[in-house]
Amino acid sequence: MSKNSVFVYSDAFQTYKFHDRHPFNQLRVKLTYDLLQTLGALHDTQIVAPRLATDEELALVHDTDYIEAVKKAGRGQLPEEVALNYGLGTEDTPICPNMHEASALLVGGTLTAVDYVLSGKAEHALSLGGGLHHGFRGKASGFCIYNDSSVAIKYMQEKYGVRVLYVDTDAHHGDGVQWTFYDDPNVCTFSIHETGRYLFPGTGNVNERGQGKGYGYSFNIPVDAFTEDESWLAAYTEALTEIAYFFRPDVILTQNGVDAHYYDPLTHLSATMRIYREIPKLAHQIAHQYCNGRWIAVGGGGYDIWRVVPRAWALLWLEMTEQSDISGPLPEEWVARWQPHAPVSLPLEWDDPENLYSPIPRKAEITEKNAQTVMKALHPIRSNKQRLNL
Ligand SMILES: [Zn+2]
Repeated sequence: MSKNSVFVYSDAFQTYKFHDRHPFNQLRVKLTYDLLQTLGALHDTQIVAPRLATDEELALVHDTDYIEAVKKAGRGQLPEEVALNYGLGTEDTPICPNMHEASALLVGGTLTAVDYVLSGKAEHALSLGGGLHHGFRGKASGFCIYNDSSVAIKYMQEKYGVRVLYVDTDAHHGDGVQWTFYDDPNVCTFSIHETGRYLFPGTGNVNERGQGKGYGYSFNIPVDAFTEDESWLAAYTEALTEIAYFFRPDVILTQNGVDAHYYDPLTHLSATMRIYREIPKLAHQIAHQYCNGRWIAVGGGGYDIWRVVPRAWALLWLEMTEQSDISGPLPEEWVARWQPHAPVSLPLEWDDPENLYSPIPRKAEITEKNAQTVMKALHPIRSNKQRLNL
């Protein structure tokens, strides 16, 4: 099925670092890379280096005064009150040295992935440095400076003239990407996330459906806190299957935040490794069904960098390269190499144990609520299908 896949990687992804105690930690990309290499599932011929995004490319989405502000901030030349107007120097997005170059590299990694796939050199491409879905046109937000997915989608539209389906399974709403394309009927955004009632960024309501010509091309499924695998997967599978059928994309871009896991310290969902096996399976299937295989995947959130992210992101690459039948123990060598650096016990197996957490008391209620949310989210395309007698 797969002609080939590329894995965009450089140790320089680590330069996107706010400070030592900040939850966003790109060491997780290296941990994943090392896990796959140790496993023998990632070969040198599949690895490509990210390029830097140019100012012109960043300006496809970002305001030029914002880009200049990020550059100045990274050189320590931006006054604090000016910085705050751009969301820079906050607790979430502190100012750090060379932040422009570090952020432009993450965007460039995603663009590298895009060029491989859309020029036909690869069928699928993964850049785990990207997935910074909260970046806005003129403002940093939620650990994100530049929004690589938004830039990549604009870039694909301009350079390749394609219609893009953006799928965001991060536990936080993919707000930056949604608002960038809110009035564009050639980009369909789908985000499934924990309800914004108690979680950043607070948006992603089921009624956010787009505006103007873009009305009906923005889909949101806010699931309840404590949602478990079954209910989460039912919502994801039902929604993505129908949205893909409705939109028939030329290319699919998936944002693979892995912070819906029970262990994640920043969110309140109760998912396990099971969803990280299933998420890429359906994305992969849709890529072949509608997009002639064209699938670009990026990273995203994920704040238990030891127990969750490496396994979940490795499973994404294993699905992409059709090696996903793996289970049982993780490579001992990998565990032995990293355990001394980890503040928690590393998992020893690919899958989580059945009894990862104690039973959720409101399970039935949560499941029912999520099912209703899916019905609301899909109502417009379902009623349209009925009208057309499909
Ligand atoms: Zn997130």
